[in-house]
Amino acid sequence: MDAEGKGRRTKGERIGEIRCPHCFSRFRPSHGAERASCPECGWEWHLSWKGDLAKIRKPVWEKWDEQVSEEQRGEE
Ligand SMILES: [Zn+2]
Repeated sequence: MDAEGKGRRTKGERIGEIRCPHCFSRFRPSHGAERASCPECGWEWHLSWKGDLAKIRKPVWEKWDEQVSEEQRGEE
C-alpha cells in the first residue's frame, strides 16, 4: 500500500529539519531563517532555503572568531 503516490520522501530527513554538521543532532530552524544555532553544541550556521527545505551552507565564522579570541586572551 502506497498512499503517497507523489512526492518522494527522503528517508531520515524531515521537512524543515537540518542536521548539525558538528554534533550531528537534528533540529528545526525557524522557517526562512538565515542563521540557526544548534541547540546541542551551540554552533551557528548559515542556512539557505529551497522551498521548505533548509540547507546548511557554512559556519558563522564571526561567532567563532569571538570565541577564539576570548580564549586566546585568557591564555596571556
Ligand atoms: Zn550541533
